[in-house]
Amino acid sequence: MKGVAILGSTGSIGDSTLDVIARHPDRYRVVALGARSSLEKFVAQCERFRPEYVALTDPTAAAQLRTILARRGVATEVLAGDSALADLAALPQVDIVMAAIVGAAGLPSTLAAARAGKRLLLANKESLVMAGSLLIEAVRQSGATLLPIDSEHNAIFQCLPPTVAAGPDGRPLGVRRILLTASGGPFVDLPSEQFESVTPAQACAHPNWIMGRKISVDSATLMNKGLEYIEACLLFGVAPEQIDVVVHRESIVHSMVEYVDGSVLAQLGSPDMRTPIAHALAWPDRISSGVQFLDLLKIGRLRFEAPDGVRFPALALAQAAARAGGLKPTILNAANEAAVAAFLEGRLNFARIATVIEAVMDNMPNGSIATLADVLAADAEARNRACEFIVGSGKVTSMPRSGAGYRA
Ligand code: NAD
Ligand code: MG
Repeated sequence: MKGVAILGSTGSIGDSTLDVIARHPDRYRVVALGARSSLEKFVAQCERFRPEYVALTDPTAAAQLRTILARRGVATEVLAGDSALADLAALPQVDIVMAAIVGAAGLPSTLAAARAGKRLLLANKESLVMAGSLLIEAVRQSGATLLPIDSEHNAIFQCLPPTVAAGPDGRPLGVRRILLTASGGPFVDLPSEQFESVTPAQACAHPNWIMGRKISVDSATLMNKGLEYIEACLLFGVAPEQIDVVVHRESIVHSMVEYVDGSVLAQLGSPDMRTPIAHALAWPDRISSGVQFLDLLKIGRLRFEAPDGVRFPALALAQAAARAGGLKPTILNAANEAAVAAFLEGRLNFARIATVIEAVMDNMPNGSIATLADVLAADAEARNRACEFIVGSGKVTSMPRSGAGYRA
């Protein structure tokens, strides 16, 4: 019986994780849940899964939850504040941590799970993009097991398991390239002149996946693929030039690995995050996930196309950040989070998301990552600069600042 902590339990990945766990009460026990707020959903999760601990970063919501749970006789301890999530990730009775908080806010708890040597199921790609070398080093030092939840990286992991050794250059032996698939998002066919008037509701209406709002916007700009490009370099030790992005509208092939002998291995499945979640929970075993099995005859055909770099400039920005290394991915990620938040709040038009990111990247020098402080400083600076560019675009509002909840 494995103890599981789900950080970001009220989100889309959190829901899917609890769905898989509920199918296997003999294997998994929910020890801890964490999120920002969503009181009603949290109450329902606590009543159903009876975790020992829950943490809400919003103290008002935490106080309300305490009262409600006491009234309903649920003996769950409620923690509050930014550092509580990291505390849950390191609990001794937790074997598996699902890192499913969105954005840079997930970094402290993701790092805490890595440092505590847990099986770390990584959905929170932003923490890897912003602090890649630190997170990978923390995993190495503690002996934690890092398993990707992003469907593409989980597919690559299945086609390129850790048993494939690294060569003297650190690259996986025998691998020619990775084919990273992209659905193309909701605007795959939208003419560029219509990008200006795209609304948040349109951007969040993904054709194949039901996801949180931030990743949905990232999918619409193709920045999600850009973040995943950086993520793949860090997780699999491949060079940026070894990754090709392929638009595959059906989202059935979740990515592929090409070997030097000409073999191409692919992982296929319905577009449902419960497959990668079940895979990573049980790896190297296999467990059922509740996912609908593939009917290839019904699907009929699978298409593959090159991405359009003119209409989707965000992808090239991320590829440049991957090649530059150092703090460039941190800067890219922070500028993107600020720009996407502004778009979702109606302060920035969709077509300018990439413009803001490019301006921030061009205006900040690169640097190396030696400590967490380097990452946090670059993250904060990039958000400030993005804020200035967004203000410069004629619409003013204060931006959230990063950095809360981090431990030295
Ligand atoms: P979501 O918006 O549905 O859920 C986000 C969760 O994070 C919620 O529980 C929310 O309470 C919590 N959260 C947000 N801000 C927080 C903060 N400041 N402090 C503490 N908790 C906070 O997002 P999602 O779609 O579930 O995505 C979560 C992560 O998984 C993202 O990094 C995303 O890129 C990644 N991911 C998601 C999918 C998917 O299909 N949804 C696929 C691949 C990767
Ligand atoms: Mg993905």
